[in-house]
Formats: sequence, structure tokens, C-alpha cells
Amino acid sequence: MSLLSVIVPCYNEEQAIPFFYEEICKTISVFNKEFPEVDFELLFIDDGSSDNTLPVVKSLRENDKRVHFVSFSRNFGKEAGIYAGLENSKGDYAVIMDADLQDPPSLLPDMYRSLVVEGYDSAATRRVTRKGEPVIRSFFARMFYRLINRLSKTEIVDGARDYRIMTRRMVDAILSMKEVNRFTKGIYGWVGFKTKWFEYENIERIAGETKWSFWKLLLYSIEGIVAFSTTPLAFAAMLGLLFTLISFVLIIFIIIRTLILGDPTSGWPSMVCIITFLGGIQLFCMGVIGEYLAKAYMETKNRPIYISKEEE
Ligand code: UDP
Ligand code: MG
Repeated sequence: MSLLSVIVPCYNEEQAIPFFYEEICKTISVFNKEFPEVDFELLFIDDGSSDNTLPVVKSLRENDKRVHFVSFSRNFGKEAGIYAGLENSKGDYAVIMDADLQDPPSLLPDMYRSLVVEGYDSAATRRVTRKGEPVIRSFFARMFYRLINRLSKTEIVDGARDYRIMTRRMVDAILSMKEVNRFTKGIYGWVGFKTKWFEYENIERIAGETKWSFWKLLLYSIEGIVAFSTTPLAFAAMLGLLFTLISFVLIIFIIIRTLILGDPTSGWPSMVCIITFLGGIQLFCMGVIGEYLAKAYMETKNRPIYISKEEE
């Protein structure tokens, strides 16, 4: 027998969980026709929900002992939820799935097959369309992936979902990365392992609404870049060098001009422009450095990634 842990991060998903449970039970019975040797564990991570997510999960557990949960003391974010799920999973394989059915459980048998039959360590999914999403959000998302892949050596796949099945050794590799600033898409790329990709069209969530505002996504993208690239720091240094060179050329130009034409005291508007321009660039570069410093500061505190108040 082998055990497959299904990890479901949930934040205010009281509406979606019943649909999810029904769907995953269907998938499990299909799954067990092909692979009768696999047992399931359904691990719900209640990420400090303020609605009835936890009672709903508890009522599932009353009738189904495959259901387990970890409940956080507050909202720690999905990344912490994924970490807690992996840490508390007992399976030989673990799969992460959203509660809103945007990650179709029906793909699971195929994904599992690529692990046990084809010898992959992981099967992951990416959506090839962003149908149903605001156009502007899709645009920025695409820009972000282009940028981060330029900046970082770690491969970060555009449209990759967190829906992914992994072998225990990959789970352990991920758990060995204890960083607090967790950008899971980068972590997957960083640990390596052979990954098979499944593609599907975007599916809209079954109930409830998305927990991601544009602002949250923007901050998250900056975290991703800071976590997996130090190129912006080099960029600041290069910018400094460039401006030093430009100013050097300008100094020579002004000396020569003064020698030829004398010394008319004019040109303060251009001076103001130059000062504000350079001031802006300096503050920007300081901000970039500050961003890294802040992250380093948070990491040195060594705080736990999540705090659980109840688990079963
Ligand atoms: N989620 C979570 N903690 C959070 C935000 C989201 O555990 O702070 C869960 C959420 O319940 C869902 C999954 O992460 O199961 C994906 O969230 P959502 O559907 O809101 O994101 P989207 O699919 O729109 O990217
Ligand atoms: Mg969703």
C-alpha cells in the first residue's frame, strides 16, 4: 500500500469545500479503479479563516477519517499553508490542490501515473489561458514572468499553478528550505527534480471569490524577485557607474566650453532637473537595497513559518 496526501490550503472557503469534497471523492473512486493500492489522506489547512471553514472541515472529519486538518492561529498566507501541508503530510506522495476546484482533481490519476510509471519526481500543471481574468492582470502577470526569468537563474514557469504532485524525496527537499519569504514557484524550480507538465485551460472558481487583489499580487511579485534574484542590486551598481561616466564627460564638456566662451552664470533650470533626476535614481536604488535588507532582517529573526492552534 502507499499513501497519497491531498493538501488543500483554505482561506474562507466554507462555500467551496463541500463541492471540493464531493469532487475529490469521485476522483478517488476513479483513481482506485486503476491504482487500488493507494490510500488517501485529505489534509485541509485552515489559514486563519474568519468564516465557517473549520467547522465545515470538522463535520467532514466526523464521517470520514481520511480527513485531517491543521488550523492556523491567524492568516499566514497560502505559502505558509503549503509548507504546513507538506510538513504534516504522511504520504509517500503529496499533491497540493486549491479548494475552489480551479485545479481539476480529475487530472490526478494521469499525474500520479507519470510518477509511478514514467519515473518522474513531480507532475505539475500550468494553465495556458487566463480566460475570465481581468485583461490588465494577465498583462502584468506575463510581464512579471518575463522579468523574473531574465533576472533569476531559477526557472519560473509562466502560468504554473501550485497544483502539483510530488514524491516524498521532493517534499523533503522543499521542507529543507526553511526560508520565511517563501515563493513556492521559485522553490520548486530551485530544488530541481524531473517534472512533467500538464496543461489545461483556466477554470473559474466554483464559489466564493479570489483572495488576491492586484496590490497583493504586486507585492508578491516583488517578493518573488527578491527571493530568487540579486540582479536588481547589480543593476543599482551599474546605474551608479553609468552616471559617473556621464558626469565625467559632462565635466570635460563644461570645462572646455567655459574656456572657450567664458563663464556665463545661467542654466539653473537644467541644474534643478539634473538634481531631481539623480535624487530620484538614488532613492530608487536605496529602496532596492532596502528591500533586500528588509528580507535579510526578516530571515535572521527566524520566526516560524506558521503557528497552528489546532490539528487533527
Ligand atoms: N489561500 C490560502 N491563504 C490565503 C489566500 C488563499 O490558503 O491567504 C488558498 C485559497 O483558499 C485557495 C487557494 O489558496 O484554496 C488559492 O486562492 P485563490 O483561489 O483565492 O487564488 P487564485 O486562484 O485566484 O489565484
Ligand atoms: Mg482560485
